Amino acid sequence: MALADPYRDLGVRRRINAAGALTRLGGAIMAPEVVLAMAAASRASVDMGELQDAASKRIAEVTGAEAGIVTTGAAAALTLAAAAAIAGWDVAKMAALPHAESFPRDILIPRTHRTGYAHALAAAGARLIDIGHNDRGAGAGVRGLEAWEIETALTSSVVAVAAAANVATMADLPVMAAVCKANRIPLIVDAAAQLPPKENLRRFTTLGADLVAFSGGKALGGPQASGILAGRRDLVASALLQQLDMDVSPETWRPPGLVERTNLRGVPHHGIGRGFKAGKEEIVGLLTALDRFVKADDAAANAALEVRLRDIAGQLDGAKLRLVPASETGRAPVLEIAVADALVVSARLQRGDPPVHLSERHAARSVLTLDPQVLLPEHDAPLAAALRAVL
Ligand SMILES: *Cc1c(COP(=O)(O)O)cnc(C)c1O
Repeated sequence: MALADPYRDLGVRRRINAAGALTRLGGAIMAPEVVLAMAAASRASVDMGELQDAASKRIAEVTGAEAGIVTTGAAAALTLAAAAAIAGWDVAKMAALPHAESFPRDILIPRTHRTGYAHALAAAGARLIDIGHNDRGAGAGVRGLEAWEIETALTSSVVAVAAAANVATMADLPVMAAVCKANRIPLIVDAAAQLPPKENLRRFTTLGADLVAFSGGKALGGPQASGILAGRRDLVASALLQQLDMDVSPETWRPPGLVERTNLRGVPHHGIGRGFKAGKEEIVGLLTALDRFVKADDAAANAALEVRLRDIAGQLDGAKLRLVPASETGRAPVLEIAVADALVVSARLQRGDPPVHLSERHAARSVLTLDPQVLLPEHDAPLAAALRAVL
């Protein structure tokens, strides 16, 4: 069976993506093995709770967490994490979300961890309470988050503390984990884009996070609309209950193995996460991609990417270039291209034929970044030609 070209049929242009696995450009490029697993998964009926139980075992193995579920992305995982922290096993609270005004619903978030994705926590009904300061980010001082700043904010209405993991915030995590552990408050970590390296699958759980969110549709190479929520078994079970379809007869319902029914005083209705249900195709696709990601030879893959970057660089005579190796980025290697008007050049490339995307993450220091994470090998030559024309 020959594959149709859906984009040509729809009149949507294919883009040369040297900007990374960006959600707005469609996320990861899936390996054929993942595509085939999804197709096979679509050809059967299964119990979705049983499928998430199986996913939980695999996610637990690779993350070191007690449990895990497949979500429709890291943002969905954060909303479910907040919902789990607020509701726990309480079906009445599950039924009330996102209207949580009458019970504890505060999530503490350090100002240096406040990203645009914090909205996903608030979407569950949580009230976000900003703590600490941002002296380093503002260039005003040297101090980072301190334990007392979390402790003084811990009132009886706090249900969780939230962190966003990245190179700049990593140093805060042990402090946050220690305070959370001592006060039995769950620590939720947004680690959406912290893969690779694959060691980071375990890193945040080891550091003491109670719930960790990963994107499935970025470097993991899974379906674009997939992600992982890994963590404490009771919290993951609450998240799962609030995501599953619950149009069930209480008499015949068999809860997933993750759920201890004796903890429930009734059968939950459709929860806050019902609108971001993970399909069987996403679940199987994510697990297949996760398996490939764990087994991959990162050093060999990065070396191959470096060869391609050097080859492209060789075609850009006169440009100011810097190849940043994987050892320095902590992820895949990239090629930095210094240009005076980075955003003007970026806009021109995006409007070209074919449209070309470089990462704008360092545009403020007059650099466009060629990130080869999802760059198709057949795009190397047209990419180099487009860059030569513009630079
Ligand atoms: C991409 C990203 C998200 C959202 O992930 P999705 O899988 O697209 O939902 C959340 N937080 C951070 C830091 C991200 O980079």
